[in-house]
Amino acid sequence: MTDVAASWRAVLDRVRAAETRAGRPSGSVEVVAVSKLQTPEAIRAAYAAGARAFGENYAQELRDKSEALSDLPGLRWHAIGPLQTNKARYVARSAHVFHALDRLEVARELSRRRTGAPLDVYVEVNVAGEGTKSGVVPAALAPLLDAVRPLPGLRVVGLMTMPPLAPVEEVRPFFRALAALGREHGLAGLSMGSTHDFETAIDVGATVVRVGTAIFGERGAPAPRLRAP
Ligand SMILES: *Cc1c(COP(=O)(O)O)cnc(C)c1O
Repeated sequence: MTDVAASWRAVLDRVRAAETRAGRPSGSVEVVAVSKLQTPEAIRAAYAAGARAFGENYAQELRDKSEALSDLPGLRWHAIGPLQTNKARYVARSAHVFHALDRLEVARELSRRRTGAPLDVYVEVNVAGEGTKSGVVPAALAPLLDAVRPLPGLRVVGLMTMPPLAPVEEVRPFFRALAALGREHGLAGLSMGSTHDFETAIDVGATVVRVGTAIFGERGAPAPRLRAP
């Protein structure tokens, strides 16, 4: 069993060290603890150690966990996985932040369903132009931003990317490309970097890193839904 509290502190130390190396203020990078396929007990352990932002990929799992853990004050849910329109209501209801917007129809549905505080949204960019990947290609970013920015209930705060699976020294250009797009479109938020490359992402300007395995240990295969809809 992973000692979640110790792993959380070790990741936080590495994040703070990477900030310092990059000449960035301590605490300028937010760490989202990616808890997909991990148990509510593991999330409670990370919360007890100080984690407040948790990342989930699957809409129903997010809904179930946000209900099971609704007693934890200040916990913020980050929906980080690709989303289908017919599941947008779960994210609109349970998430504070959505990192994987890449289609206008999903944005419209989130906007229609959202009540209360606006949902902070990152637009996912497929910077490498890989055919199989989610995310908009860079050329489609400007029209999507123009269409999404006026929608009520959503606040576009930044860009997100998942670089190709490659050795860590090869991902830097993809992070650089996302940072350049952020500057071009006036977006300060950059959600990039996970377990094997978050230090590189911080060096290039990530404002949010999404770290799962280094905090919680290996995940199992995607589980069946925790509960029927
Ligand atoms: C699972 C996941 C992560 C975390 O990956 P690790 O390698 O476990 O740190 C980050 N971002 C997204 C979009 C994910 O799906």
